[in-house]
Amino acid sequence: MGMGLWAQSVFTPGLKPFIAVDAPVIALEHVRVLDGTGAPEREDQTIVIEHGRIAAAGPASEIRVPEGAHRMDLSNHTVIPGLVGMHEHLFYPSGGGVPLYIEHGMSFPRLYLASGVTTARTAGTLEPYTDLNLKKMIDEGRMPGPKMLITVGYLEGHGSFAPQMAELDTPDDARRFVEYWASQGAHSFKAYMHITRGELESALTTAHARGLKITGHLCSVGFREAAALGIDNLEHGIVVDSEFSPAKQPDVCPPGSAQELAQLDMNGEAVQKTIHDLVEHKVAVTSTLAVFEAAPPLQTRFLDALSPTAALLYLSARDRLPEQARAGSALRVKKEVEFERAFVKAGGLLMAGCDPTGNGSAMAGFGDQRNIELLVGGGFTVPEAIQIATLNGAKFLKLDDRIGSIAIGKQADLAVIDGNPVKQIADIEKVRVVFRDGVGFDSAKLIESVRGQVGLH
Ligand SMILES: [Zn+2]
Repeated sequence: MGMGLWAQSVFTPGLKPFIAVDAPVIALEHVRVLDGTGAPEREDQTIVIEHGRIAAAGPASEIRVPEGAHRMDLSNHTVIPGLVGMHEHLFYPSGGGVPLYIEHGMSFPRLYLASGVTTARTAGTLEPYTDLNLKKMIDEGRMPGPKMLITVGYLEGHGSFAPQMAELDTPDDARRFVEYWASQGAHSFKAYMHITRGELESALTTAHARGLKITGHLCSVGFREAAALGIDNLEHGIVVDSEFSPAKQPDVCPPGSAQELAQLDMNGEAVQKTIHDLVEHKVAVTSTLAVFEAAPPLQTRFLDALSPTAALLYLSARDRLPEQARAGSALRVKKEVEFERAFVKAGGLLMAGCDPTGNGSAMAGFGDQRNIELLVGGGFTVPEAIQIATLNGAKFLKLDDRIGSIAIGKQADLAVIDGNPVKQIADIEKVRVVFRDGVGFDSAKLIESVRGQVGLH
């Protein structure tokens, strides 16, 4: 797709209400910068944006602001690269008794962008045509949203819990699935919990022949098996790896247990072998800590975004959450982030995403921010956590020459934060303006526009 991957900022009247800043030359002055490379923050910097790209960046005392630039004094603010969300979805659980997911083509692109996500790789869709068409609408400037990369799937075998998924019967089915959706514009594919090794291998061969990647939330196939087959990326991390279950049978997803997980030693030989395999085969891992949290701190902005019915369903389910579920959720976050630190220490590429599924606690965009908070809570430094959520995803996508960090020549995809996330990571939620290709979107207006819409569309 090359340079035509995303058209350069096209605007229609539909976008106008959400635009905070649009000028050929913009200077962000006296701002704290976290550049996405893992380097420590730099105080009192100036960033010059020219025609959608970063033209200059450095100490405010040294950078010359061009004549006629739109100048923004951002003292007490922090600028980070736009987030590269690697486990996004455009659907959300319906909250009913049957696990159904409702496409959120109206509210979710707005929430991602408002939260600082400027590039969203989805990690599976239940309405591939809708996702592909929404991407087009965003690219054409017909609606606000991040730059989208659509992952089609689910490549699922027999036994799926989700009635919206098709079930593959044979490796040949997997091949046809990949061929068809590749022809329709899929950027990548998602393999799921009951796929067989034969089906996964067939899907990988077909996708790789087209230069397309496959990620997986696997269970029937273990991480080391998938690495050996050539999978590109694994979602969620060690907490979904079935290879540590004594009940594991080939091609079958065994039931997991909290006890097994509690006993898993991230520095022990077994996990270290898995980490070694993933690093050696260059399999990236996507951190999705936020979706494991069954009852994160309840926020007004979250409740405001929900429709009245969705809020009622969410709150009543949360109120009846068994103590065991709360404890299980805390254990998963703790063990997973331990794994993620060990994986990064061993040289693994860790990325991050939202995964707005589970019990609905991780909402589009807000969940991406929460994930960064949980990475920091688990022991990553703030610059490391930002790098995981920005540059690492860009590297995996091979787009790091254009996005993922604050560097001269890159697309001006930036999030302006009113506060200092280095001192207090929760400030990551105070995104005020999000630049996509140098055009600044008003975060509050985007969020206000979806008030009461989540749960509906
Ligand atoms: Zn997911």
